[in-house]
Amino acid sequence: MKFNDTLDEIKLYEAGKPIELVVREFGVPKEQVVKLASNENPLGASKRVQDVICAFASRANLYPDDSMYELKEGLAKKFDVASSQIAIGAGSDQILEFVSRALLGKEDSVLMSQVTFAMYEIYAKQMGARVLRTPSYEHKVDEFLELYKKHKPKVIYLCIPNNPTGDAMKKSDAFEIIDAVDKETLIVVDCAYMEYAAYKDSAYKIEPKDILNLPNVIYLGTFSKAYGLGGMRVGYGIANEKIIHNILKMRPPFNISTLSLAAAIEALKDEVHLEETLKLHTEQIKRYEVFAKENGIKYIESYTNFITYLFDEKYNSSDIANKLLQKGVIVRDLASYKLNAIRITIGTEAQNDIFFERLLEVMDLK
Ligand SMILES: *Cc1c(COP(=O)(O)O)cnc(C)c1O
Repeated sequence: MKFNDTLDEIKLYEAGKPIELVVREFGVPKEQVVKLASNENPLGASKRVQDVICAFASRANLYPDDSMYELKEGLAKKFDVASSQIAIGAGSDQILEFVSRALLGKEDSVLMSQVTFAMYEIYAKQMGARVLRTPSYEHKVDEFLELYKKHKPKVIYLCIPNNPTGDAMKKSDAFEIIDAVDKETLIVVDCAYMEYAAYKDSAYKIEPKDILNLPNVIYLGTFSKAYGLGGMRVGYGIANEKIIHNILKMRPPFNISTLSLAAAIEALKDEVHLEETLKLHTEQIKRYEVFAKENGIKYIESYTNFITYLFDEKYNSSDIANKLLQKGVIVRDLASYKLNAIRITIGTEAQNDIFFERLLEVMDLK
């Protein structure tokens, strides 16, 4: 049996390690494992959302409202857009997949930064498209425009703020790219962490409204990060009706579960939980900056719910990540992105305390 030759080019997505693995392999008691690897909300889903999920358990036999009327209305109100300009996906990941399938073929190329969200490449390669990357891990306007002019890619991915580095493009820089690209190229503005960036500095705030009148830009958002619903798999794309209409042709029926839909609708209403999430994050990420400075570790200024620590040659990031893992602290090693760095999701105060202590131990700074 011969699989599609496009598959030869695809590496499997490397997900954050689960808590169960650390319990199993290193015998760390479950309660002591600290998972700071997948950019999940350390406060969890809000109590209101948990109650709604329980209340909907008895309706697990029913298909969800496939029009997703209430969720779209909620998002439309929040962002001041029309429901017809919104597509809901099983995570914004699924919107990325729809975009890829709706636009890409073997003749096409896509453009992204050197170090960015791994799924852009995977979905593009599933369609046989060629992947182009800028030289720098930061999103640099001139690098994007140079490669754009040379190759005229079909899709450009702007990850703002960027995962896995945590830095962000300013809104004005993003629009320098958007304004220079003609309408034959779709620009995906992936704003999975925009709640954090906008809270930190309004110069980084991009809203769906900003791109709606453009024929070739789609804004992506998710409930997985600031809203604390990673396990429920709900994300969205917002763009003009023509883009939405076309990408929705790729959508399987009932792509969000009944429980996920109810959870997302409630999460959108629970502004208190979002505010608490952002407040805790802002306090705690300062501790990571102070800790790094005190211990001579470089870091990338973060606009997300994680921070990237960069190590000098004295240290090896894979080694550090492994040693942390054995002590029950899960972080993300960025060696596979050719960075001698680890990405740490900002946890609760207690989780962060444990991280700092363990890192000092494994770096022999104690
Ligand atoms: C987490 C993340 C997503 C999407 O996550 P879903 O859980 O699929 O909504 C998209 N882009 C980036 C950059 C992310 O970090």
